[in-house]
Amino acid sequence: MDGHGRRIGDLRVSVTDRCNFRCQYCMPADGLPWLDREEILRFEEIERVVRVFAAMGVADVRLTGGEPLVRRDFPRLLGMLATVPGVEDLSLTTNGYLLERDAEALVGAGLKRVNVSIDSLQRDRFFQLTRRDSLPQVLRGLEAIARFPQVRPIKVNAVALRGFTEEEALPFAEFARSTSFQVRFIEFMPLDADHAWSRDQVLSGEEIRAIVHAVHPLEEVPREPHSTARVYRFADGRGEIGFVNPVSEPFCGDCNRVRLTADGRLRTCLFSLGETDLREVLRSGASDAEVEQVIRDAVWRKELKHHVGEAGFQQPPRTMSAIGG
Ligand code: SAM
Ligand code: SF4
Repeated sequence: MDGHGRRIGDLRVSVTDRCNFRCQYCMPADGLPWLDREEILRFEEIERVVRVFAAMGVADVRLTGGEPLVRRDFPRLLGMLATVPGVEDLSLTTNGYLLERDAEALVGAGLKRVNVSIDSLQRDRFFQLTRRDSLPQVLRGLEAIARFPQVRPIKVNAVALRGFTEEEALPFAEFARSTSFQVRFIEFMPLDADHAWSRDQVLSGEEIRAIVHAVHPLEEVPREPHSTARVYRFADGRGEIGFVNPVSEPFCGDCNRVRLTADGRLRTCLFSLGETDLREVLRSGASDAEVEQVIRDAVWRKELKHHVGEAGFQQPPRTMSAIGG
């Protein structure tokens, strides 16, 4: 529980700060200074933290990065976490570039759910945003994982940027209507490397919803507790589409998540300015009970809300890639 009465049930684990893409809203073109190998939590350390969290009732674990699939032997980590008692939902967020290579191994290791990030369905515009000409490879990855019916739902996430995503709204709506993939738009947040975010660059979920609704009428699906997305179904029954609106409609009130960075820092909010060094605790010979107490103390101090868009908002020094989105 945090100090505001919220029960924390969801842990996002970043397994690497490295990435094979350079998305404009996340990383600079030249990359960032990467963490050294010994700074990054080992698989056994990640498993231990997840075990301690799961024993406290955290049942949802999502693996992310950086790009999780660039971490060597990643399916082995997934397999280790899939057997941790109390972990009920183990999922992955990936840019999809290596999914074609890894799909079978991931499924074999116990993957049940995956989110693939795709910001444009047009090759040149995908290249412009990710700085990699990789849309065909990513779509092959999506097809590869979709061949496994045990991995569902498969979600496709697009960051919503003003001046860019307006043109993507209808193609993504068609995509959601003609495939089994659930499409979700995520508002651009001030976690970019260039600190170039401004409120007017955010294309709100409501604006995209209106563009889609004008062509394909939408009906709202009741919101599930702790869900970050507003989900709508197409009125003619052909699939659904979602909007994650952290900027225009913050959902901090029932936020149930915390994050572990690749270097073992516990972050209680995407926009936290302070962190708790769990790696130091793990490597100092602490018992599980001691690790648990450090986690409980940090979680108790979880921020009430973020202050994005308010006067005096301070962007955290870490980019999204170094936090784990
Ligand atoms: N590399 C993987 C991927 O792209 O899916 C996992 C890590 S990435 C940081 C996780 C998610 O954060 C992606 O869907 C990405 O689009 C999103 N993201 C990155 N920077 C963002 C920003 N400034 N605002 C909103 N979403 C962002
Ligand atoms: Fe890499 Fe994901 Fe960030 Fe793009 S959003 S640069 S794929 S970590």
